[in-house]
Amino acid sequence: RKFSIVDKINDCMTRYQLVIEQNGYDMKYEPDEDRQIDADPDKLDQVIYNFINNAINYTGDHKVIRIKQINSEKSVRIEVSDNGKGIAKDLLPKVFDRYYRDAKVKRDVVGTGLGLAICKEILKCHDFPFGVRSEEGKGTTFWFEIPT
Ligand code: ATP
Ligand code: MG
Repeated sequence: RKFSIVDKINDCMTRYQLVIEQNGYDMKYEPDEDRQIDADPDKLDQVIYNFINNAINYTGDHKVIRIKQINSEKSVRIEVSDNGKGIAKDLLPKVFDRYYRDAKVKRDVVGTGLGLAICKEILKCHDFPFGVRSEEGKGTTFWFEIPT
């Protein structure tokens, strides 16, 4: 059940290649050394897809999406960042809740508010630490960590 994290991220990115290219967005992967990781590959896809999807949906006109891999001795950390308007501090703890959606974005972007709740469920099942940090006006970073 082990697989390459670098291959996984590259595979996930190909799903968005067309939409990125056609709209002139910018998506970059900064890999670290490759590692074999132990996870449910399809579930991990779902998490990465949701993070990328949100980064595309909730970011301004010139979308810059960065996927960063940071290896440490015992884990691989994956961060998905955007340059969007960010999430207010008081709302940040709610984003992983089921059906939570920012009232201000509701009109512009269609969604169910379930994407991040599913991510949370999957990451909890795997026992992978995860979180979000955001700065209003600058952007948002969703991250998770895979023990290796
Ligand atoms: P869907 O179920 O289609 O994913 P959704 O995108 O609204 O719908 P989530 O992915 O769970 O649901 O996100 C919940 C809410 O968190 C979003 O509606 C948005 O308000 C906020 N949010 C999520 N990601 C970002 C981001 N990268 N930047 C700013 N706000 C975000
Ligand atoms: Mg979403």
